[in-house]
Amino acid sequence: MPDDVPLTELPPSLWAATAPPPPDTTALEGETRADLCVVGAGFTGLSAALHAAEGGASVVVLEAGAIGWGASGRNNGQVIPNLSRMDPDEIARRFGEKGEAFVELIRDSAALVFDLIRQHGIAAEAVQNGWLQPAHRPSRMKLAESRVRQWGSRGAPVELLDRDAMARLAGSEHWHGGWMNRTGGRINPLGLARGLAAAAMRAGARVFTHSPAVALVREGGTWGVRTPRGRIIADRVILATNAYSDELWPGLRREMIPVASYQMATVPLSDNVRRTILPEGHALSDTRGDLHFFRFDANGRLVTGGALVIGRNWRERIVARIGARVARVYPQLGVPRFDHVWWGHVGITVDRAPHVHELAPGVTTWIGCNGRGVALGVAIGRELARQALGTPWEHLPMLREPLKPIPAYGFARALAPLAVLERRWRDRRD
Ligand SMILES: Cc1cc2nc3c(=O)[nH]c(=O)nc-3n(C[C@H](O)[C@H](O)[C@H](O)COP(=O)(O)OP(=O)(O)OC[C@H]3O[C@@H](n4cnc5c(N)ncnc54)[C@H](O)[C@@H]3O)c2cc1C
Repeated sequence: MPDDVPLTELPPSLWAATAPPPPDTTALEGETRADLCVVGAGFTGLSAALHAAEGGASVVVLEAGAIGWGASGRNNGQVIPNLSRMDPDEIARRFGEKGEAFVELIRDSAALVFDLIRQHGIAAEAVQNGWLQPAHRPSRMKLAESRVRQWGSRGAPVELLDRDAMARLAGSEHWHGGWMNRTGGRINPLGLARGLAAAAMRAGARVFTHSPAVALVREGGTWGVRTPRGRIIADRVILATNAYSDELWPGLRREMIPVASYQMATVPLSDNVRRTILPEGHALSDTRGDLHFFRFDANGRLVTGGALVIGRNWRERIVARIGARVARVYPQLGVPRFDHVWWGHVGITVDRAPHVHELAPGVTTWIGCNGRGVALGVAIGRELARQALGTPWEHLPMLREPLKPIPAYGFARALAPLAVLERRWRDRRD
């Protein structure tokens, strides 16, 4: 795994170079009281803060780095209303009495993101014209059909696409057809994080950056959250730290494996080439385990990326690997020049499902986006805010589960990068 930038710096990325500036924030100094303390200023924490503040709670957000410092500022910005591995029938089984309600939350999650962007006037390069999942082998059309059937029967606006239709929308003959969900799309993720922070602050939330929560202790009926130079006393706490969780809550970090996902953006493409690739501006991620994914930004850069087994010389190696991939998928472009290359942690759980916890009375969290956390983070953040405002768990669409750290965590984490090899092997089989 490459070394990360210090919390004092903004991780370099296309989004850091192009997103509108963040709202003014400072580090927490001294002691303050709040109904709700949110730890982590990514999509989950900022959505929770916005919805809780709109619901009348006094809210403080503590972020160790800057707004969007974690995965929310570094991702591919594909707004995808599904999970990466689990389909609705399996989600319904896995989450028991909450199964169908959780499926509905996921189904509506992309629409929620775009609605919030419109409602709060967030400058996030939002384009909501559908998310494509092309089949990388003819046999994967069965998967596409099954996904269309399962999501369609639950009211999602999905559509099966034959080979010609996919080739037209993707701008490539590389795939064998696939499917589309019309509520999905793409955003500038750091723009969304900063815009959500500004909206939460307008609703009354106080956001403190460069303020890591270093201790969380029960103090009578409240929680004390300590930072290097301050302290929050709150009735409730939402830990929105996800794949960037530290040791603040023992065991939480060990429930998922953080896996590096590498991202890159080409130089802006000429109009004539650009018109031939994803000509209607869709976001696309295919059926491979070693995912092929593409989208444009607002300036005509193709934004893509991939996985590596080892992090050594990652920049040169990912540029070579993905450059060759782009040329294979989009021969009209050839090997492009990339002028932004970056990476971030994706949190992977053993069962590939997101896990929601009430860690102690008044302390909630979720962990394990498994690569689909833009829409899901915003949606679960809203639900954790409802819980903090007093909605009983019986009325929420998520199953509360006990924390289950992965056994032999060090070993599992050391071996995790090898899973890329297994995924590549599976991708070549029917
Ligand atoms: C490279 C990459 C590409 C991805 N692409 C996509 C995509 O295209 N579509 C999709 O749906 N999902 C994607 N994801 C996943 C998605 O980005 C995440 O699931 C989502 O951003 C998680 O948001 P979050 O708010 O839960 O966590 P984060 O955004 O990770 O926020 C957690 C925050 O908590 C802070 N923190 C941690 N500990 C403390 C502490 N003790 N005190 C204070 N603050 C603390 C961190 O600094 C961090 O800012 C991608 C992820 C990565 C890394």
